[in-house]
Amino acid sequence: MSYETVVGLEIHVELKTRSKMFCACTTAFGGQANSQCCPICLGIPGALGVINEKAIELAIKTGLALNCHISEYNTMDRKNYFYPDLPKAYQNTQQYHPICRNGYLDVDINGNKKRIGITRIHLEEDAGKLIHDSENSLSLIDYNRAGVPLIEIVTEPHIESGEEAVAFLEELRRILLYLDVSDCKMQEGSLRCDVNLSIRPPGQIELGTRTEMKNLNSFRAVHRAIKYEAKRQYLAVESGEHILQETRKWDDLKGESIAMREKQDADDYRYFQEPDHMPFIVDDNLLDKIKANMPELPRQKRDRFVSEYGLPYYDANILTASKAMADFFEICLELYDKNKGTKSAKTISNWFMGDLMRVMKELGVEIDGLRLSPSGLVQLLKLVDEGIISGSIAKEVFDDMCKSGEDPTEIVKRKGLKQISDVDELRGIVREVIEENSNSLEDYKAGKKKAFGYLVGQTMKKTRGKANPQLVNKLLKEEITNQL
Ligand code: ADP
Ligand code: MG
Ligand code: ZN
Repeated sequence: MSYETVVGLEIHVELKTRSKMFCACTTAFGGQANSQCCPICLGIPGALGVINEKAIELAIKTGLALNCHISEYNTMDRKNYFYPDLPKAYQNTQQYHPICRNGYLDVDINGNKKRIGITRIHLEEDAGKLIHDSENSLSLIDYNRAGVPLIEIVTEPHIESGEEAVAFLEELRRILLYLDVSDCKMQEGSLRCDVNLSIRPPGQIELGTRTEMKNLNSFRAVHRAIKYEAKRQYLAVESGEHILQETRKWDDLKGESIAMREKQDADDYRYFQEPDHMPFIVDDNLLDKIKANMPELPRQKRDRFVSEYGLPYYDANILTASKAMADFFEICLELYDKNKGTKSAKTISNWFMGDLMRVMKELGVEIDGLRLSPSGLVQLLKLVDEGIISGSIAKEVFDDMCKSGEDPTEIVKRKGLKQISDVDELRGIVREVIEENSNSLEDYKAGKKKAFGYLVGQTMKKTRGKANPQLVNKLLKEEITNQL
């Protein structure tokens, strides 16, 4: 029997505020252990903090981007539990009045748009970090992260596969980066994702019992974990077992999930409204101010690149992968062609799709990690347009520009890469090539059309790629005809 997989995600995002949720301690990552805490974030009895307004603003921005209703009346609530990384023995969260509700995100999956519901987004504070040192049988604790502002984004169980989960997370991550809400560094824990998963027979409306998987450190891990867990549940159900509602830990090295503990119910946490912080109101004034400052979002930008510049969806999608890349592209286009024509847009886009992506991958950097400037790239395109260098030489110059930041004209001059377009000079070279490759000439005369390409290649080789390819073609034809 076949089953459907049902997945809902809970995503924790560390907000890009300078200070923590209720105190002035820095949120900077990687400081010396326990050097970034104070009586407030350590929860010393009697210490009173003040809620971080910037955190509220970033949560609202996210909610607006995810089409949520923004709550006017908000409270912070205490979630009580004991754990060594939680010095207060409670976490401040928004159990009863989350700041955002009832939103959705449209995700492109294999060319189709799929709408995934957002149940809620709430503010909370992060816990400290336990470091288990198995070699010395020690557990160490670093409270620098305690009290760092977080949002938790909870989706409806609308996701049906690992592919969909990853597509959702990629789109979400893009949005968060565009909004400058978080740096979304999974390796530093600023974006963390838990996977809730159950299976059910097709057509059944009622949801099956779910497990919750934690410790997913990459999108790839999310994908693998979903595949693994769906199969594990399937095999269990098929052999007549009951699925336990439990929390499981994903072990990415072993590629399996392991039961951690039976899932606690909300009751176990004895939530109550936080007495140390007043409820706060999000009024229209604040909301309007935030709305007025919302940037263009990835989907809007992608659609605009298609409609305004006539680019294929594929190109638009890659170009808008980051705001920095989209901005870079648009500055190039503006400099290259005041009218921003489709042909110009595609010419520039081709450089992005091909060489720019390749160099970024080679160097392992994002676009702002290259020494390339938009005006440099446009200069390079003009050198090609004006026939000063050939397309293949341009690629070589481009690589240098990305690494050294040098001007393309300078590189061409320094390396002597100017295209050979002088007819007499090139005719001489073409004649030499024909002479040196008389077999090919014979082949060509005998009807082997391929031989012509070989002769073109030899001419390019002899000029170290500098010959004007159109001219080489033309002269070769002339010279061969002369010999027929
Ligand atoms: P919590 O995990 O804090 O108890 P919820 O009960 O609200 O919170 O569920 C959290 C997540 O689990 C949500 O993303 C929700 O969509 C998902 N979820 C809930 N029930 C199921 C289920 N039976 N199968 C798959 N996902 C589920
Ligand atoms: Mg949960
Ligand atoms: Zn502090």
